[in-house]
Amino acid sequence: MRIFFGLETDSDTRRALADWRDRYGIAAGRAVPAANFHITLAFIGEVDNRRLDTLCRAVDALEPGPHGGAGKILLDQVGYWPKPGIYWAGPSQPAPELAALARKLQHVGGMVGARLEKRPFAPHVTLYRGCTEPPPAPAVLPAITLAYAHFTLFESQLGRQGASYQALEHWQLEP
Ligand code: ATP
Ligand code: MG
Repeated sequence: MRIFFGLETDSDTRRALADWRDRYGIAAGRAVPAANFHITLAFIGEVDNRRLDTLCRAVDALEPGPHGGAGKILLDQVGYWPKPGIYWAGPSQPAPELAALARKLQHVGGMVGARLEKRPFAPHVTLYRGCTEPPPAPAVLPAITLAYAHFTLFESQLGRQGASYQALEHWQLEP
């Protein structure tokens, strides 16, 4: 199975992002279903059940400290990455606690063969895929707060309608 760690979006955040996109998000691409809105922390890739179990138990064993704890980020910026062809919403300000958590999870992922991500962590919610041209600047930027109190291990499944994600396990972050 194909797995990754990430932050779920709650229904209010999903609705706010979808509303912003309906109003201001002009992009030539495929709109990601709001149910798929998430922030990837660490992409792991293909694992079997044994590696999945190893990974989960290693995450259980992490000290709570470096997790950073629960928090929130303000999604107040949009961007376009030509290579994956995605248009996204993310924070304009650095999110050091989230970056620390992402680093930790990538490191744990290395134990089950995940490739280490060389690029710096750039938290984002993908709004459109398959964008071949840079979208015009939006008239109004989003200003949407995503509060998080846990992170999630997702299974990513590719169906006829595109990708869908199932939450396999959650880990609480300290308040
Ligand atoms: P699709 O690949 O069908 O467009 P998807 O990218 O949403 O759908 P996955 O490829 O399974 O589904 O990826 C799950 C999440 O992990 C997405 O947020 C994706 O951007 C991210 N991701 C995928 N591959 C990598 C990678 N090599 N490095 C970092 N993040 C990745
Ligand atoms: Mg992909």
